Amino acid sequence: MKKFAFLFVFIFALPLFLVGCGGQVQLSSYDIVCEYDENSHTLTCEQNVNYVNNSNNTLNEICFFLYPNSFKEIAVSNAYYDRAYPNGDSFGDIEIESVKIGDKDAEFNIENEAILNVTLFNELFPNENIEINLSYVVNLANVYHRLGYGDNAVNFGNFYPILCVYDDGFVKNSFASNGDPFYSDIANYNVQITFPSNYTLATSGEVLRSTNENSKTTTEIKGEKLRDFCFVLSTKFVVISKTINDVNVNYYYYDDENAEEYLTLACEVIEEFSSSFGDYPYKNVNVVKTNFCFGGMEYPNLVYISDEITDSETYRYVIVHELAHQWWYSLVGNNEYEEAWLDESLTEYSTALFFERHDYGLNYDDIIAGADSTYRLFVDVYSNVLGDVDESMNRNLGEFETEPEYVNCVYTKGVLMYDSLRKTLGDSKFFKCLKDYFENFRYKNASGADLINSFSSSSHRNLEGYFSSWLNGEVIFGN
Ligand SMILES: [Zn+2]
Repeated sequence: MKKFAFLFVFIFALPLFLVGCGGQVQLSSYDIVCEYDENSHTLTCEQNVNYVNNSNNTLNEICFFLYPNSFKEIAVSNAYYDRAYPNGDSFGDIEIESVKIGDKDAEFNIENEAILNVTLFNELFPNENIEINLSYVVNLANVYHRLGYGDNAVNFGNFYPILCVYDDGFVKNSFASNGDPFYSDIANYNVQITFPSNYTLATSGEVLRSTNENSKTTTEIKGEKLRDFCFVLSTKFVVISKTINDVNVNYYYYDDENAEEYLTLACEVIEEFSSSFGDYPYKNVNVVKTNFCFGGMEYPNLVYISDEITDSETYRYVIVHELAHQWWYSLVGNNEYEEAWLDESLTEYSTALFFERHDYGLNYDDIIAGADSTYRLFVDVYSNVLGDVDESMNRNLGEFETEPEYVNCVYTKGVLMYDSLRKTLGDSKFFKCLKDYFENFRYKNASGADLINSFSSSSHRNLEGYFSSWLNGEVIFGN
């Protein structure tokens, strides 16, 4: 995600097989059939999940993250309230109507609003799979957020119960108003969406076919090896497209004089990062202008760009940032709640890298200098106001007390950390580290320790001390 900065502006059902370190991993899959009712602003869904136990443990329950329930309360900090809720308070949620295993109703409970725990009838052994059927209704709030309806578009980010990742147990993240609280495994998707025919659909995955009946459109979509699935509906969308490296790049927009320029930029981004980090392996990528209270948001094959961004420099910056997330978050995943720095720092640095190599009037050295002065200002002001400032980057989202603290420690300092590392290692080793890290963890989840080990191995240097001094807040600014 890319935030608008306020106080301290930084300008800135066919299983596939993957070959990993542990051998073949069978992916879980989601079959979702849903219909959007524009009058009640509800999405009614039937979801069949084929869950594969890829752990070494025997499981008695399966857990899902229920992001729609984060809209039971005001979902943003005060600074974003007016952008998110222009029509005042509005609330949404997910109503789980039934959970079945086979034909039988299964026992379930909802923990802290965020986690759906489904109790299995029988133990699920390693490498076994099980089918779980969920019926539910998502009630959308009138909120310009990942999930919600606005004047120009309806956003369906994180609308469905998504499987929690199993590490030593199921990882149960909490909601957070700072940053993205998500963590998921790659899976396969078959999704059928029915919606009023006057809307245009932008979606993750590949559209297989669409049919129209009684003023409703039903679209079938297939998504292979996706970390998540998202779609956006709007009655206002105009779509323009270009192909680069066999990838269809589409820009969904309304009211935009610079549409062609943004589409060209998106193509350049896909080309640049495919060559800098590794191929973008999907057929489509959609840049979608929409109602959104932050700058932008990333999903597999689809990114939101806020229609509230009025200057083209910021708009371009956000397009590059969100598309960089296709590499850092979508293809190489991580627990964004526990280690937000992993994808955000690398994404923000990749954005600087893009502008270093493409002439859009933003100079790499200026971006680094801007980050440096912004970060110093943050430290100065916080030290003066609070007496002390926590500069650590490796905190979970719940541990950042304010928005400026989160943005400065994770994004701004992240850019400085990678710039400094590049100067230490030299370009050739530094870019090898990025490529190897991408190759090693593509379609997987990486931890901070994984990144440090991967970079150490690629550069033939032990970088543990280097990273830990930055991550723990021991690097001193002011020399
Ligand atoms: Zn981001």
